[in-house]
Amino acid sequence: MVKIIGIIGAGQMGNGIAHVFAIAGYNVLLSDQNQEVLNHATSIIENNMKRQVLKNTISDEECKVALARIKTTINLSDFNNVDLAIEAATENENIKKAIFKDLSNIMKPGAIMATNTSSISVTRLAAITDRPENFIGVHFMNPVPIMALVELIRGVATSNRTYKIVEKIIDKIGKKSAMSKDYPAFIVNRILMPMINEAAFTLYEGIGTVQDIDLCMELGTNQPMGPLKLADFIGLDTCLSVMKVLYDGLADSKYRPCPLLVKYVEAGWLGRKSGKGFYDYSGNEPVPTI
Ligand code: NAD
Repeated sequence: MVKIIGIIGAGQMGNGIAHVFAIAGYNVLLSDQNQEVLNHATSIIENNMKRQVLKNTISDEECKVALARIKTTINLSDFNNVDLAIEAATENENIKKAIFKDLSNIMKPGAIMATNTSSISVTRLAAITDRPENFIGVHFMNPVPIMALVELIRGVATSNRTYKIVEKIIDKIGKKSAMSKDYPAFIVNRILMPMINEAAFTLYEGIGTVQDIDLCMELGTNQPMGPLKLADFIGLDTCLSVMKVLYDGLADSKYRPCPLLVKYVEAGWLGRKSGKGFYDYSGNEPVPTI
């Protein structure tokens, strides 16, 4: 019976995942590299839950109880009691591998390990653990409390038992799951990221302005958020690393990352989370940076 959910990485995805599990009644252990990140994450979760109270989607009491279910730690060794660990650390294979290696020595036998990776091979991450059959990809969408979908990615060794347990848990937290085979970027990002990359090329080649590219896709194709706005929202570093995974994994030049996207990431322009990307977020309204 899965009762305690451990989450590694308290960035935008990790704090959202902690939020939805706490509301659904699970005890959550949220970890990151330092206490400041964790304090920041818990204040974001608190603000987001309070917003739900104002919208009447949860009661004040439910909010208090859910917040009290979230504990934080900077020591992975505290994961010895966790039933399901969801890794939501930076999209970097070496970082993730190091985390799963450590978890293999810490987590109890039979406990499940999961990764929220947007694009890295679940099978490859599973292979470095002591339990590839208890390993699965659980790809939440951003913002986690709002988006209804979770992609479940079966690694080559993922057992039916692991898949069924996790599928039930996703249902219990009120989300829908879709199954993807373990190929580069899975389903959502296999389709979404080349579109965002093409929007960056459209800007890079001077075909349209930031505003016009987003307006075209919002009003012309009925997308609630244009691709450049969406890229800033996701994080340009994450978008770039997904394109690199597609490019390397499928060995097809159509997935080459747009040089402008590369340049922005080099500059530390990572989108909303760093305050600047295709838009500048320092004022009241986002303003295109070029
Ligand atoms: P983020 O940069 O907001 O957060 C990553 C966090 O991981 C940071 O707080 C960082 O301090 C922490 N971290 C790095 N190394 C760590 C370590 N060794 N131990 C513990 N914590 C560590 O990134 P994010 O947008 O939350 O993305 C996290 C993961 O979720 C990535 O794998 C990404 O691909 C995936 N993802 C992102 C989105 C999105 O829209 N941003 C959507 C789905 C999945």
